[in-house]
Formats: sequence, structure tokens, C-alpha cells
Amino acid sequence: MKNGWEVVIGLEIHAQLSTESKIFCGCSTRFGDEPNANTCPVCLGLPGALPVLNRRAVELGARAALSLGLHVNETSIFARKNYFYPDLPKGYQISQFDRPFSERGELEIMTSARDESGHARDWQPMKIRITRLHLEEDAGKNVHEGLPETDRYSYIDLNRAGTPLAEIVTEPDFRTSWEAYDYVNHVRRALQWVGASDADMEKGNLRCEANVSVRRAGAETFGTKVELKNLNSVRFMQRAIEFEIERQINLIEAGGRVSQETRLWDDRANETRVMRSKEEAHDYRYFPEPDLQPLVVTPEFIESVRRSMPELPEERRRRFMEQYELSFSDASLLTRELALADFYERAAKSSGNARGAANWLKSELLRELDAAGRSADLSPVAPEELGALVRAIDEGKISGKQGKDVLVEMFASGKGALSVIEERGLAQVSDTGEIEKIIADVLASSPAQLEQYRAGKETLFGFFVGQVMKASKGKANPKVVNDLLREKLHES
Ligand code: ADP
Ligand code: MG
Ligand code: ZN
Repeated sequence: MKNGWEVVIGLEIHAQLSTESKIFCGCSTRFGDEPNANTCPVCLGLPGALPVLNRRAVELGARAALSLGLHVNETSIFARKNYFYPDLPKGYQISQFDRPFSERGELEIMTSARDESGHARDWQPMKIRITRLHLEEDAGKNVHEGLPETDRYSYIDLNRAGTPLAEIVTEPDFRTSWEAYDYVNHVRRALQWVGASDADMEKGNLRCEANVSVRRAGAETFGTKVELKNLNSVRFMQRAIEFEIERQINLIEAGGRVSQETRLWDDRANETRVMRSKEEAHDYRYFPEPDLQPLVVTPEFIESVRRSMPELPEERRRRFMEQYELSFSDASLLTRELALADFYERAAKSSGNARGAANWLKSELLRELDAAGRSADLSPVAPEELGALVRAIDEGKISGKQGKDVLVEMFASGKGALSVIEERGLAQVSDTGEIEKIIADVLASSPAQLEQYRAGKETLFGFFVGQVMKASKGKANPKVVNDLLREKLHES
């Protein structure tokens, strides 16, 4: 650890659940609509309006919990969290407090230290305790326009107010910024995989807060924590944590004291800045939401959600390693998203060569897809066509080198492997009849060499191969040529 210091990090993730409508009313959750277009008395917080729980939000909350290996409480209770802010018209947020949707879970992630160039070298399993996963509504958004102090206006957009969120809180179990990084990526992938959330940090439908403190190695109690916000990507979060660790250690070593506060990450300046002090503890005056029944989730409901979920990424990675004999790193890459894993399995099946399909997918096709910013389900090359390409190479129709050009053209034109091979006249001739004819011609036109060969000058074999290849304009399958030539030369 950094010269006698230990770092302690706990993470809070807010993930927007991918429902079409809000959690307590029927308003649309569509992103980017006219400000305040998607509002009604419930999400505007008008007096007398009553919330009705959206069943789909519960289902997606359950998918989120199950994707992280969490147990769902049979009964959970919505509670009012009271605070005042312009984007919160009711003056309280409906959340969950002492009886959350899920609590006391444990998640195994894979994590690795990084070398100077940021490469992971040694993936190890690590257990993270999940304090809770609860359901709540999102607040609206304040929008500021104009120049400060001259012509500044603030607006309130309540389209986001009432959007369903799952908040996932961990125990302070992380000791490095990379562990936190690997955890957030794990959660993002799991939520996307099961369709619980788009989990896109840039769009703000996955938001992450990092709580960071430091203490002298061996100290019994935790240091004062600082909460980091405005982390718009997982990488920004990792950098913000690193900055914060340095700042806190330097501060204490210089005789100072860390104050409990919320700080914002400024990526341009590469530093965190104070947003507000947290010294005076908030009193949210939580109490059970009187307008909603306790949420009861039966074991049958959970079972039906579980049955409708795809095989989870970790299981799938394990299966890829066993069934297709892939390395950990290949299997991890190919399970980075569900569409890619599905693509791979179809390509592997149709190629008849699972390792070959993995190699072509990860080193060639994925490069094209990433460059085009497309996910595997939008690939212009269908999985069966990647399979056909691998098969054509394995059967010796074309060389691996030609395969690369063929794939680039398949990607650009959307044509199938065999059509591109045919159109370009690339197919190697493997038809024995055709090759036999060429061999007969070559032998007939080189009687002197034939005589020398039969007299024992075996090095002439290469000469005959060369002649046949030349006569076929390079298209004859070299293996077939070799086999047939050997046969013919040894006939007397
Ligand atoms: P608050 O009441 O300030 O929100 P919580 O106890 O709810 O604090 O914890 C919020 C998050 O901070 C959790 O993820 C928790 O693991 C983490 N946390 C708590 N104490 C520390 C600490 N000393 N250092 C780092 N993280 C901490
Ligand atoms: Mg908290
Ligand atoms: Zn509404």
C-alpha cells in the first residue's frame, strides 16, 4: 500500500430501470423530449395525487437483484425521504429505508491490478458485500442557462422525476481504485445483460458515487470519508478516486484533517472540488409512505423472473472456457455483452471450429465493429457468415491472409463469405480432376526433369509443385497438389 496508508472505498450506484413508464404514474420515461412534456399530477407532486406502483419496475428490480446474485425480500416498504430541493416538487422522494427490496448480499467479481500502461495482468476473484439494493424514484433536473450574475436563468425539467431507480450500495470493501473500477463494470454488464437497465453512464442512466477515506495501515477505525460525485464514466471514477487518495494522504501528512464533504470530479482540471460540506448530518425524517402498500414479492414471482433470464455472464464465461476451450481472457472478451456472446456461439457452431471462430471474431471482426461503433447484433457480417469464412479457411479454399481481406469486404458490403470468395476468384482449386489434368500437362512438358527425378534427384519435387501452381495461376490447393504429385511421380 502507498507508504503505510490504507485506502477504503464504498460505492453507491443508481441505475435507471428500463421501464417505458415511470415508477408511480403512467408518464413516459423517454429521454430527450420537450422539458416537462412527460408529467402528470403524480410526478408533479400536486396535492391529492396518489402513486400506483409500476409492476414492470418491480420485475426489472428483481432482474437487477438476481443478476447480482442477491436475494429479494418477500416484503419491502416504501418510505418518504424528506428534503428540499427545487427538482423535488413533493418535498420528499419515495425511496426505501429500513426494509429495502434486497439487502446483505455478496457478489464475487474478478479484479486485477494494472501495470503502468493500464493493462490488467493478474485477474483474481474478490468478494464484495452488497449492503442493499432498493427501489426509488428519481428527482427532476435543474437546468441553468445564461451568464452568471448578468443574465442567468434556472429552469426545472420534471421529465425525469419519477423515473424508477435501483440504488445499489456496497460495504466499504474496496482497497484500490481498480477494484472499484472492476466492480462498476461488473454491475453495468450484469444489468445490461438481463435488460434491467441500459446502464449507460454518459446518458446518466447509471450514476455512481464513490466514498473514499484513508487511514494509517493497521488503524482500527476508518478515516473520515469524502463522497465523490459527477463521475460520468467508469474511467473518470477511477481517476477521481486516485486523485482523492493522494489529496487526503497529502493533507493528513501536512498536519491537516479531512473534512466530511461531497466533492465533484472536474475531468478537464483533473481534480476534485468541494461541492458541499456534509458535517451537519442530514436528517431525512424517513417514515413509511402512507399512500403505498408494503411491496410483497412472492417466491413464485421471483422464480418466474429467474426462469425468464438469460444464462448470466459469469456462468457463460465459465461454460465458454470448458465447452469451447477458450482462455479466460478470450472468454471474458466474448462475454462482455450478451449480443456478442450470442453472436460467438452461433459463429462457433456454424464454423465447426470454436477456437478458430473465437480468434476471427476477436481479432478481426471485433476490430471492425468497434471502429464502426456497432454492437454485435448490428454486425453487417452475420455469425453464420463468419462461420462460413472460418470453414473456407479450414478447408483450404482460401488462405488465412486472404481471409482477412475477404472479411473486410464482407463487412463493407454485407455479402456472404462464399460470394466474396467467388467474386474475387479466390477459391483455391481443390477439385482433384482439374489438378490431375494440370499435373499431367506439367509432367508431359518436362520429360528431362521427370527422368532426373525418377533417377533419384528428389529435390526436383519442388520444381514440379512450382510448375503446377504456376499453371493454376496460384489457385490450386497446395496440399492437394502435393498429395497428387507424389502419387503421380511414384507411378511408373
Ligand atoms: P451516508 O450516511 O453518509 O450516506 P453510509 O453509511 O450510508 O453513509 O455509507 C454510504 C457509502 O459509503 C457506503 O457505500 C459505505 O460503504 C461507504 N462508507 C462508509 N464509511 C466509509 C469510510 N469511512 N470510507 C469509505 N467509504 C465509506
Ligand atoms: Mg447513504
Ligand atoms: Zn407522471
